[in-house]
Amino acid sequence: MSVLVIETNVCIIGAGPSGSTTSIVLSKLGISHVIIDAAVFPRDKICGDVLDLKVIRVLNQISPSIVSDEMMHDENFVQITGFSVNSTHNKNHRIQYEPKSSDPTFPLFFLCKRKYFDYFLVKKINPQYANFKQGTRVIKIEKLENGRWKIQAVCASENIEIYCNLLVGADGDHSIVLRSLGERKIDRQHYAGGLRQYWKGVRGMNNANHLEVFFSKKFPLAYLWIFPHLNDETNVGYMLSSELIAKNNLNLKNIFTDLLNEDAIISDKFKNALPLEKTMGWGLPLASGQRKASGDGWLLVGDAASLICPTTGEGIGPGMISGYIAAHFIARAVQQKQFNHNLFKNYDREIYKRLNDDISQYNLLRKLPIALLNFIISAITFKGFVIYFINKRVNKWVKTAYQKSITIQFD
Ligand SMILES: Cc1cc2nc3c(=O)[nH]c(=O)nc-3n(C[C@H](O)[C@H](O)[C@H](O)COP(=O)(O)OP(=O)(O)OC[C@H]3O[C@@H](n4cnc5c(N)ncnc54)[C@H](O)[C@@H]3O)c2cc1C
Repeated sequence: MSVLVIETNVCIIGAGPSGSTTSIVLSKLGISHVIIDAAVFPRDKICGDVLDLKVIRVLNQISPSIVSDEMMHDENFVQITGFSVNSTHNKNHRIQYEPKSSDPTFPLFFLCKRKYFDYFLVKKINPQYANFKQGTRVIKIEKLENGRWKIQAVCASENIEIYCNLLVGADGDHSIVLRSLGERKIDRQHYAGGLRQYWKGVRGMNNANHLEVFFSKKFPLAYLWIFPHLNDETNVGYMLSSELIAKNNLNLKNIFTDLLNEDAIISDKFKNALPLEKTMGWGLPLASGQRKASGDGWLLVGDAASLICPTTGEGIGPGMISGYIAAHFIARAVQQKQFNHNLFKNYDREIYKRLNDDISQYNLLRKLPIALLNFIISAITFKGFVIYFINKRVNKWVKTAYQKSITIQFD
């Protein structure tokens, strides 16, 4: 088989939301680069499919018309106007949130199948600056004596060797970049297991445009979700901390199936529903582990950098923000023709500063005894107080997403 040799300053491995955002923003900054993905898009990714306001914020930075002209008029992006938080202890332990009618009429979230959303983003990669190689799997990464990287990849028709100054790991939870750096150690305290299954015909949902989550007594920090797609389909899933899974020798699939079949509140909704696929599992590397995300000639973004928000499980938004920030650090490095860690030493601070509150809350909550957590969850019956608190936060998030640009401090 022939070998294609490519020389470049920057090579991004992975074209999920984090890698494609890095590429799109690099192109806007006029920086040529290579981006590689093992998959051919459109491809699936196990996920709850929720696009939060962080995603909207990054897209608005790239171009406000993406949200207002494309997503708002595309039925594949279900506009989510509210949500409900339920406890399975008691059907009265629930709150339902809908913004006041005086609030701006932006959706709080979009729900979009990853097969569609990731392809939607990939199509925005600009071929003028990005040499995008899909269906190309990286199999080996070496640091050469001259400080450059040699990346070996394979696709159906040829072997590829890429030589670059800067390696960007955007290759998700099973990252070959992390393994090559000797950094892929899983700390169960900061890692979770998750499951997804698409269903049709789930009944008794609150509202066609609401997200619903359910907390159970046994594992109060884990939740089951039911999120509404088009055509009477729902994304149903569950996530639980790996520390608890290992400590109690649990089987995630069994817990999920028991909740759907036996829980008094949840099972009622699934009586006449049909699963559309087998239960699918994947890991969630949580930001609370505070992984080092940069070094001499390398940067990590998204799941490869373990940036999933530990309290909610949302990783697309933090991943895209990290891609946006990484692109600006990379552009500066390319302009200065320097790729050592000095140029990136504040990258980690910049990506974590938007996650620090969630990390502190999670680290506090995970140390609380189960009884106290259950008491907190049952306190959602104090609806007035909780709704007041949610309203304040949601209004701030909406303003930030639609009105505030992302600022980056390099020094
Ligand atoms: C069950 C579950 C539910 C979730 N729900 C949500 C949710 O509702 N909302 C949310 O915001 N987040 C959610 N997340 C988290 C979210 O899925 C991730 O945070 C997000 O996908 C991270 O994007 P990424 O671009 O960093 O990585 P990925 O989306 O994993 O993309 C990595 C890319 O790298 C490529 N790649 C990997 N290895 C190689 C290689 N060797 N060579 C070339 N390419 C390679 C892959 O093909 C892939 O395209 C959920 C996660 C799970 C497991």
